[in-house]
Amino acid sequence: MTTPTIGVLALQGDVREHLIALAAADAVARPVRRPEELTEVDALVIPGGESTTMSKLAVLFGMLEPLRERVRAGMPVYGTCAGMIMLANKLLDGREDQETLGGIDMIVRRNAFGRQNESFEAKIDFAGIEGGPVEGVFIRAPWVESVGGGAEVLATYDGHTVAVRQGNVLATSFHPELTGDDRVHAYFVDMVRAGL
Ligand code: GLN
Repeated sequence: MTTPTIGVLALQGDVREHLIALAAADAVARPVRRPEELTEVDALVIPGGESTTMSKLAVLFGMLEPLRERVRAGMPVYGTCAGMIMLANKLLDGREDQETLGGIDMIVRRNAFGRQNESFEAKIDFAGIEGGPVEGVFIRAPWVESVGGGAEVLATYDGHTVAVRQGNVLATSFHPELTGDDRVHAYFVDMVRAGL
C-alpha cells in the first residue's frame, strides 16, 4: 500500500497535533510553510488556530495563490476549525480583509458556536466513520450555514452542519487532532490514498 506524504500548513495553529495524528494514521507527515514545500506533498491539512492570522501569513509568505492553485487542481485537503474557514467559498463574520482559499461550496460562519459557548465537547456521529461517534472538541468554532449541491454533509451538531466533504476536500468545525482518536485523520488518509 502506498504511504502518502501529507503536509500540515504551518503558518499558525496546532500543527504539531496534526503531525502526530497523521503519523498515527499511517501517513508521512511534514510541516509546510513555503511554496517549494507545498510542491512536495500529496495532500494538506490546514490546522485549527486563528483564520485571520493564517490568512495574513499566507499572503505574507507568498502562499495564498500557490495554495489556491493546488486546491483548484484537486489536491486533497482537510481543514479543522480555522482550516474549515480557509476552505469556505464564502465566509460570514470574517474580517473585512480576510482571504479564504475556497474549495468547498459552503457558507461558513466564523465563531458561530463561540458566541454562546467558548469551548465544549460533544459526541458526533460522522457518516463514513465506523466504531461509534467521534469526540468533537469545539473551540470558538465555526459552523456551516449552508452547502451547495456538490458538497456532502457528514455530521451535524445541534442542528448545525459541522463536517462537510466535497470531492477531495474535507472540513470539520471541531478538532479531532486534540482527542487521541485518529479515525477522522484515517478517513482523510484513505481519501488521499484513493487518489494516488
Ligand atoms: N475562531 C477561530 C478563527 O476564526 C477558529 C478557532 C479554532 O481554530 N479553534 O479562525
